[in-house]
Amino acid sequence: MKILVINAGSSSIKYQMLDMTDESVMASGLVERIGEPSGAVSYKAFPDTDNECKTTLEQPIPEHETGMKLVIDLLIHPEKGVIKDLKEIGAVGHRIVHGGDKFHAPTVVTDEVEQAIEDTILMAPLHNPAHLAGIRTAKRFFPDVPQVVVFDTAFHQTMPPEAYMYAMPYEMYEELRLRRYGAHGTSHKYVAGEAARLLGKQPEECNLITLHLGNGCSMSAVKGGECVDTSMGLTPLAGLIMGTRCGDIDPAVYAFLERAKGLKLSEIDMIMNKKSGLLGLCGMNDMRDIHAAVEKGDEKAELALNMVAYRTRKYIGSYLAALEGKVDAIVFTAGIGENDDIARAMSVQGLEALGISIDQEKNAGRVKEPRAVHADDSRVQIWVIPTNEELEIARQTRELVAG
Ligand code: ADP
Repeated sequence: MKILVINAGSSSIKYQMLDMTDESVMASGLVERIGEPSGAVSYKAFPDTDNECKTTLEQPIPEHETGMKLVIDLLIHPEKGVIKDLKEIGAVGHRIVHGGDKFHAPTVVTDEVEQAIEDTILMAPLHNPAHLAGIRTAKRFFPDVPQVVVFDTAFHQTMPPEAYMYAMPYEMYEELRLRRYGAHGTSHKYVAGEAARLLGKQPEECNLITLHLGNGCSMSAVKGGECVDTSMGLTPLAGLIMGTRCGDIDPAVYAFLERAKGLKLSEIDMIMNKKSGLLGLCGMNDMRDIHAAVEKGDEKAELALNMVAYRTRKYIGSYLAALEGKVDAIVFTAGIGENDDIARAMSVQGLEALGISIDQEKNAGRVKEPRAVHADDSRVQIWVIPTNEELEIARQTRELVAG
């Protein structure tokens, strides 16, 4: 079965077409700057092979429908295309950032499902409207093909109430579903599944701590294949220190900044999401720049790096407790997790007494294929496993459609 995976953002469509007979990528690319004066489409056919064929188009793309049409024309193009007929596509899988507490698993799109995604817009005001645009566009182009939605929040729906509730008036939970939901669930689920396979166990047989460290960063405690805690909250602002987001903070900071500087809530929200984290601390949000600055003696960059590592270690400690000390492996993934050996080493530094020790040599460098990086005497294994959210979406889509 061939599956088209779509990740529609407010001004972009990321796409990948997979042949699920061998899980190979047939085509992938990105439509960018939708709605802006000049848009762009990048397209790669057979990106992981010697026959890779790259194409870029630059033209205004007023809305998602035009962007999707350009992608489809490339997919069925006589020379550049990878299929002859759109009928070859067996299903379309859509990434959805927030499914509230209605969705625990991938779901075939119906009018009710669309309505439920619409009802959750308050929790993901930037993402969910864009996802709906992607679904509606895909339905027009592929009216007879099952459309499946895969939610980033679904993996975390197994959290018990003591992990997902906020200590706020209970009516707010009842009335508004105010609680923790988590994010990056598709990535956590993918690496947890791969880790179990690499450990030679069934997912039910192993406990893991998964670290998705990219621009956005989150961690999950996974018990027997199910998420029991995660670091992000109602929104992806909570938890670890990120590229531009502050992560955990005293909630009274909002009121303080209002009193002290007369800032509006929307301004504080923007500062915490877009001007904080690494960027706020040292003026840079790319780990590569931060390491280079630390080398040159930049003290703020060093502070930022130390804070990121300290926060991560504290979460590892708390998830060891959440998993009652029984952890088979810690798994690093995403841009920083896969590429930054210094950040990995700092995240577990000094945890030897807890049975966690990394091997500096095995840990060295960037990781393209799954790799174990723990010391021989480490009780808890440490793995780096490149994430693949598109493949996870395609797998879940196939599973649902094939019944
Ligand atoms: P996103 O959350 O946008 O998907 P990624 O998972 O691609 O982000 O992670 C992007 C981040 O990964 C960059 O901002 C950078 O900090 C980090 N990164 C990427 N490559 C490297 C590298 N070679 N060394 C250190 N950090 C890296």
